[in-house]
Amino acid sequence: MNAFRKLSISVVMLVIITSALLLNIQTNSSSAEAETLQATPELKWYRGNMHTHSLWSDGDDYLEMIGAWYKERNYDFLVYTDHNVLSNTERWIDVIKNKGGQKAFDKLKARFGEKWVEERTVKGKHEVRLKRYDEVVALLAEKDKYLLIQGEEISDSFGKKPIHMNTTNIQEAIPPMKGKSFVETMQNNVNAVQAQRERTGKPILIHLNHPNFHYAITAEQLMRVRGENFFEVYNGHPSVKNRGDERHASTERIWDIILTKRISELNMPVMYGLATDDGHEYHDIPSGSKKSEPGRGWVMVLSKKLETESLIHSLEAGRFYASSGVTLEKISQSNKGIEIKINAEKGIKYTIEFIGTKKGYDATSSPMLDKNGKEMSVTRKYSNELGMVLKKTEETEASYQFQGDEFYVRAKITSTKLHANPSFDGEVEQAWIQPALGPGAPDQKIK
Ligand SMILES: [Zn+2]
Ligand SMILES: [Zn+2]
Repeated sequence: MNAFRKLSISVVMLVIITSALLLNIQTNSSSAEAETLQATPELKWYRGNMHTHSLWSDGDDYLEMIGAWYKERNYDFLVYTDHNVLSNTERWIDVIKNKGGQKAFDKLKARFGEKWVEERTVKGKHEVRLKRYDEVVALLAEKDKYLLIQGEEISDSFGKKPIHMNTTNIQEAIPPMKGKSFVETMQNNVNAVQAQRERTGKPILIHLNHPNFHYAITAEQLMRVRGENFFEVYNGHPSVKNRGDERHASTERIWDIILTKRISELNMPVMYGLATDDGHEYHDIPSGSKKSEPGRGWVMVLSKKLETESLIHSLEAGRFYASSGVTLEKISQSNKGIEIKINAEKGIKYTIEFIGTKKGYDATSSPMLDKNGKEMSVTRKYSNELGMVLKKTEETEASYQFQGDEFYVRAKITSTKLHANPSFDGEVEQAWIQPALGPGAPDQKIK
């Protein structure tokens, strides 16, 4: 072999080695941007409900009975969110004249015994003391097994329409802050929560509840609220109209409008979708979609610990999915796309839909009109290019590869399994994956 050949072989080798190194670096960098949500020895999925009512407001059962209900049904955490009140004071109520009445009282005694229940008679009235949050924590919470979190449903309004916002890990009650418009009212409540968060140093999460309850909140309003990055895409109360109707956008449609506009025009963070129960009624379950009962919608949060701060940290990083029954084994998001693996049940079929909006979509919109052609103050009408189904499959393990022009892509999984306690007749189990920013999103948005 002559010197020239030796040299050229060396050059070729060098090129091969360099390319291999470069390739390796590229692989490493793309995997560094990928995030896989999957249980490991360090990380676990925690199941929780973030919307719960009790006798402290308009629910029909005692805090400890509700806490025990969730604990016995494989929930890891529960947030108590009564309307405009925290369960941290001394409060006595009439044993009979309350939403739960004698039935709830008898069940309470049967479950926790005479010793636990405090009763008194005042001016001939038989009263029972409502246990405080801290007492219920001492009774039911267990380290690494079951966590109870203090919350409040800040129940505000504008005009005659409800604006309800839930807080998780609130430290002091926040009264409805009011405002001169829907947006300002939501913003004032978010600001109050942020101020408390800064003052106390405790993470507090705020989310917009049931936007379609009385069709109060539109996509255009909600998208503009700064610091409001969570909303209920699914709420198990039978009268909150998640699915909308011919003149009202569904909560999923609202989600897609908000995501598209926030990413493409408003330069705001993505909105995350939660599933919650909003339970008020806890007796004779299941009622078959007649009442607002527990066990319908929840979040699965991937976290290091079953601790409030850790869970909120994961929620704020988007490390969770929402479910009304479907369980997932793995969700991967990277700059290449999304992968999903369903924890499939035998005999059940699943459909995965990858949904998103691409650059250059038809961005025109028009107001919704009523029967008489009059403009309605509801979410506007947009083209079908907003929130399009980009891929649909019946595999239980599927991936979506970015094409290069997506603002975002999210996924919805629908099973053929009927919900055990549906919020409407014929409801099947579903899951909602949080949105991933696509390559079409403006640069400053890709982290
Ligand atoms: Zn509400
Ligand atoms: Zn509620």
